[in-house]
Amino acid sequence: MRISLAKHAGYCYGVQRALKLAREATNSSTKPIHTLGPIIHNPQVVESLQGQGVNAVSSVDEVDSGTIIIRTHGVDPKIIKKVKDCGLELVDATCPFVAKAQQRVADLVKEGYNIIIIGERNHPEVVGLLAYANNQATVVESAKELDNLEIIGRTGVVVQTTQSLANLESILDVLLTKTKDLKVFNTICNATSQRQEAAAELSQQVDLMLVVGGKNSANTTRLAQICQKNNQETYHIETDDEIDELWLAGIEHIGITAGASTPDWIVQKVIDRLEMLAGES
Ligand code: SF4
Repeated sequence: MRISLAKHAGYCYGVQRALKLAREATNSSTKPIHTLGPIIHNPQVVESLQGQGVNAVSSVDEVDSGTIIIRTHGVDPKIIKKVKDCGLELVDATCPFVAKAQQRVADLVKEGYNIIIIGERNHPEVVGLLAYANNQATVVESAKELDNLEIIGRTGVVVQTTQSLANLESILDVLLTKTKDLKVFNTICNATSQRQEAAAELSQQVDLMLVVGGKNSANTTRLAQICQKNNQETYHIETDDEIDELWLAGIEHIGITAGASTPDWIVQKVIDRLEMLAGES
């Protein structure tokens, strides 16, 4: 059995940076360290950080003292102000690519554009982007949602960093039939595009594709959807324990990709288990 890893897979720059900032915070402070929501969408990494004293909270109100780490997805700027006003230490791990998308939204507001954010309505990054538009933007998840949307005046588009290019293109195709006054910022980050392209390529060359990463991770779920389109034998798993031996019957070539929040050690355990199962068969 042959195992191939996608050319681009696993931890991205933003996640590595956030974890480094979290480590530095734990090393330099004796007070409690909190993340506002799980620092990344990977339950195994969040659990390991808990062991080092970094706990996730859902609101600033839950914290009396110490440090609050803002995760890669970014937040409403009012939350940052609240952390500072409460006298808590702030570590802002918002990914610079998300910060750029936030800035694009703020600029469009200043220039008087009506704003469309392409992304998942309830994803924390989109909730943060909406806040930069004073909650006045329209969130669009797919082209279908544009059927009944009336476009009036100048319209600016900003995209959740982990969206697929295909979804952006299909939404733009429809938007262009509704208005000529359109300004588009493709804020999909390079790490996302590279991982999606590499996953699409590999999934067409293998008999079975494993996509490794948090089930709550938007970018991992998107990788799984992309692979599934090319290869019916695609499975989204969080850990090696989820591999079912029956999947491997008659399989010669397995492809692996991993979301931007999946550490190498989880991918390695998946490879080890596959090799072990191949040795047994
Ligand atoms: S996927 Fe892109 S935007 Fe998100 S944290 Fe990684 S580098 Fe930043």
